[in-house]
Amino acid sequence: MSKRIALYPGSFDPPTRGHLDLIERAGRMFDQVIVAVAANIRKAGLFTVEERLEMLRDMVRDMPDVTVTQFDTLSVEFARKHGAIAIIRGLRVMSDFEYELTLAINNRKLNPEVDTVCLMPSEPYVFLSSSMVKEIASFGGDLGCSVAPEVEARLREKLRQARLE
Ligand code: ADP
Repeated sequence: MSKRIALYPGSFDPPTRGHLDLIERAGRMFDQVIVAVAANIRKAGLFTVEERLEMLRDMVRDMPDVTVTQFDTLSVEFARKHGAIAIIRGLRVMSDFEYELTLAINNRKLNPEVDTVCLMPSEPYVFLSSSMVKEIASFGGDLGCSVAPEVEARLREKLRQARLE
């Protein structure tokens, strides 16, 4: 039987414990999960794509069925190229729903063979987002429950550099 592969695309700027929660959930449902950082030149982030890849690889280092890569095409095209049958997305609060539904329906039009699977994170991560993490970091708030220690250290360093510029 062929491997059931899922693609988890996103910005991951930076990756949070909420993203990791979803990767673990998807890992239990699929044989392989490809976490793919969108290298979108129109959407500059705080972290470079390379830095996001490093942080994600560090987070999933003990998960042999999870691979981390980047892409710069439509996610459905990337899914097709890698034989993925599903695109993983997250649903936290109601405001995610409209966006994710629109995305899912448009993606289905582009590639009817790939379905979007929306997963809900554990409760502590329901109100967690990369932008919230960056906001808290900019005010020096505690991020221990939100991101991995390595990500927190990188965030602090990034903001320190930004202040020096
Ligand atoms: P994008 O810019 O593509 O939305 P993100 O990195 O912000 O990229 O998010 C990728 C996916 O992960 C989205 O579907 C988002 O809803 C989901 N996600 C982000 N943070 C969380 C979280 N804390 N819990 C569950 N899903 C999340």
